[in-house]
Order: sequence, then C-alpha cells, then structure tokens
Amino acid sequence: MTDRRPPITTTDAGIPAPSDEFSLSVGPNGPLLLQDHYLIQKMAQFNRERVPERVVHAKGGGAHGFFEVTEDVTPWTKAAFLGQPGHRTPVFVRFSTVAGELGSADTVRDPRGFAIKFYTEEGNYDLVGNNTPVFFVRDPSKFQDFIHSQKRMPDTNRRSNNAQWDFWTLSPESAHQVTILMSDRGTPRTWRNMNGYGSHTFMWVNAAGEKFWVKYHFKTEQGIDNFTDAEARAMTAEDPDFHLRDLWQAIERGDHPAWRLEMQIMPFEAAADYRFNPFDLTKVWPHEDYPPVTVGRLVLDRNPENYFAEVEQAAFEPANMVPGIGPSPDKMLLGRLFSYPDTHRYRIGTNYQQLPINAPQAAVHSYNKDGAMRYRHNGDQPVYAPNSFGGPQADPERYGEPAGWEVAGEIIRSAYQPHREDDDFIQPGMLWREVLSERDRDHLVANIVGHLRDGVEPAILERAIEYWRRVDPGLGERVAAGVGRGA
Ligand code: NDP
Repeated sequence: MTDRRPPITTTDAGIPAPSDEFSLSVGPNGPLLLQDHYLIQKMAQFNRERVPERVVHAKGGGAHGFFEVTEDVTPWTKAAFLGQPGHRTPVFVRFSTVAGELGSADTVRDPRGFAIKFYTEEGNYDLVGNNTPVFFVRDPSKFQDFIHSQKRMPDTNRRSNNAQWDFWTLSPESAHQVTILMSDRGTPRTWRNMNGYGSHTFMWVNAAGEKFWVKYHFKTEQGIDNFTDAEARAMTAEDPDFHLRDLWQAIERGDHPAWRLEMQIMPFEAAADYRFNPFDLTKVWPHEDYPPVTVGRLVLDRNPENYFAEVEQAAFEPANMVPGIGPSPDKMLLGRLFSYPDTHRYRIGTNYQQLPINAPQAAVHSYNKDGAMRYRHNGDQPVYAPNSFGGPQADPERYGEPAGWEVAGEIIRSAYQPHREDDDFIQPGMLWREVLSERDRDHLVANIVGHLRDGVEPAILERAIEYWRRVDPGLGERVAAGVGRGA
C-alpha cells in the first residue's frame, strides 16, 4: 500500500460514515440503536464475506500477464489470437492444489491446477489444465467418487490414505497419474518451476476447415524443480503459503516467470487407428510419435490488486473455446464442459461472467438477460431473435461450421472402444523404466512406501503392491520390501 492521505470513510452507499470507532448508543453505556445503519451494514456485510470455496482446487494464487505468439500456426488453427507471430493476448493464470481447503498448505503432495484465461479479440478462451499431462480417471461419472476418496472422510473428518489407495487400486486407469503424483513432481518447489498441460486432447481447425487433434504443453523456462518429500513437509510447517509468496515476490522483483507453449498435433484421420485411444485422459502421446511444435510464450508480469476479486472470483471453464478451437471425444473434457459453468453459477452467481476478472475484453451481444447482480445490459436491444429491430445476428457463414466429428452407435454405458495398446500400465511403466533417473526412482519408491505405511489396511496394501508390480515388477518388489511384505 502506498503512503497517501486517507479518504473519508463512507458507507457502501458512499455516505460519509459517522465514526470508525463508536457505535450509536443511548448514553455511553448503551443500549445500541437499530438506526445505526453503518454498524448494521458492517456486521451484515462481514457475515457475507465468503463465497463457497471451490469443492476442488480451493487453495490457489494467480497473476496477470500475456501470451505472445512466436511461430506461424495458421496451418493448424484460425484462432485469431494465434494468428500472427508477435501478437499478444492478455491472460490471467491461476495455480492451485486440488484436495486441500482454502487455508491449506501449498506444498503438500497433490497435482497442481494450471488454469489460463486468454482475453482474446474473439472472446475468452479458457485452458483449464494441471501440472501433469494425464489424469486419474477417464470417465466423468467417476470424478466425484475419486475426489471423495481424496478429501475428508464423513466420520473422522480427516483425510484417509486407506481410502485413497482403495480407490486407486480399484481403478487401474489411475496408475499413470499416481506414478507422477508419487514422484517428486507431486511436490513442485514453486509454481514457477512446473510445467502446465492442457491434458485433454482438443481440436484445432484452420481457415480451410481442416481439423487436427492437439495437446498443449507449457514448458517452464525456469526449469523443473521439486521438493523432496521431506523438504515439502518441512515447508508445509514453515510457510503454508510458500507458493503464493514465491510467485508474488518473483513478480514484485521483476523476475517474470515464463512458459514456452509447445503443441503436439495429430492429423484428424490418424486418431481412428492410433495404437491407443488418443482421447483417453490417462495417456500421453509419446513425443516420438508427435514431436512438440513451439507456438508461443506465456509470461506473468503483474500481481493481482485484490485477491478476492481477481483470484477467488476467477471462473475458468473449459467450454470457453474460441473459433478455431474445439473439444474432442475425451469424455472427461465433455463432462467438464458442463460442470465448470455449473459450479460458477452456484459458487459466485449467475452473472459471474460480468465480474471484471471474468468479463471478456471482446464485446458481448447475447440474448441472455437479467438475473441476480446483473449490471451490464443491452439497453433496449430486442430480447429475442429473430427480430425486426436491429438486434445482434449470428454469422453462420463465418462461425457456424461445426468443430466436430462424426458419430454413430447405440446409446450405451461403456468403456471407450478399444485400441491395440490401451493398457493402463504401459505408460507408467515407461516413465519408471525410461524417463526417471536413479534418484527419481529412489524417491518414488520412498514416497509410495511412506504413503502406504500411513494407515493402509492389509487387504488394500496387498492390492497396492500388485498395482505397482503391474507398473513394473521391479518397482512392485521394492514397494513390497518397503512395506515389509517382500518375497
Ligand atoms: P520423452 O522422453 O520424449 O519425454 C519424457 C517426458 O517426461 C518429458 O516431457 C519430461 O518432461 C517428462 N518427465 C520427466 N520426469 C518426469 C516425472 N518425474 N514425472 C512426469 N513426467 C516427467 O518420452 P515419451 O514422450 O515417450 O513419454 C515417456 C513417458 O514420459 C510417458 O509415458 C509419460 O509417463 C512421461 N511424459 C510424457 C509426456 C508426453 O507428452 N509425451 C509429457 C510428460 C511426461 P520435462 O521435459 O519437463 O522434463
């Protein structure tokens, strides 16, 4: 805060307040009077200071910045904000943990949210990703159960490693993400030292209408750096807000963190017989198959002025996609297209998109109207379409082509149609055998063993050992030995 002559206190109606210290009373010893509108306003507003915290990703921090295109990507997308090298788009980015509440520690073992709002000339584009390229489940009907297994139990109100391993070992599709979570990437040193991934497969469409499947990778220019388990635990005690502080201080001192956006791009037709399902959120596309293409640079250079207004009320939604970008048949993505705006309507209110942090910089000409707290409106614009009175008109020629794919089939509940290599354990096995260093592996084993030794019952422990054997027999043996059940 800067040094300045203070303004006169007012009520929220702008009326000069009578006192910062004393309520209105009958004589010095009271009683207090209902006509002390200022006191009553203060008490009532105070009682309403919180909005419901996010059910997931409650604790976080964020910053403003920009995205700059560095390469020509018009062969793959017509998105206006990606149309020209050098073009800059303002962004707001929010980082978060997943399971903890609003006041919880930043440095606990957890995936980290990495959500980006691009304020483009064609409306807001939200990429709501994580610091991991994959996820625990691949069907949105399992998401709520997964989160319940990670959060507080109904009886003890404490988190339960037993519940976590119970869910994971009964959900083998979780193995890839759990391997990453239990590696030191589960405890990033700072938000600046981690990558961000769009995680899902998305569609890009170019000006000629050609379609591509794509994956987003934001690679940290600060370098990957993680805490060990012990360091993360120590920091949890020393400074629960360490990641918030680190990002804030880095930006304050002009050390602006940056990420290089690299895309993997798959021809539309290649998806059908790719060796595994390219829309399965528990899998990555090996770089060898689809080498990353550099697209641009994300830079964070401005701290929020007000945490509540800009971070707590920030509302990201994967359904915000601009022309040239579309969804894919990833079932998790399709579920999220509904669930994010739904939670914002509940948590913040139906007109959450009018708050400055969420409002697009592009003009809004919709036929939606009214609702609690709406203050931007279209005056006397007609409230229905079609109309004869000059109301907005969609341009299907320009924006109407579907960013879609063909479907046919019976309406059923089912796993994805299998591809040749859909196995849940191949990719975590590759990570263990081909990517992790000796040190990474030692830490992964120690982190798994430490977690399993903390309240996991024997039957679930046996399943967990089997789960790790399926990732890699050697890893399974090391875990078994670590929990005292070795051969
Ligand atoms: P590559 O050797 O081309 O890439 C390996 C990737 O693994 C790099 O992107 C690297 O990220 C990342 N990585 C390194 N250490 C870890 C860790 N502890 N946890 C998670 N990721 C890590 O291999 P492939 O593309 O053939 O993939 C092999 C395995 O690598 C996959 O099964 C997957 O587990 C993992 N991986 C693959 C990614 C992909 O998109 N292909 C992305 C991330 C992980 P960095 O460059 O930042 O160090």
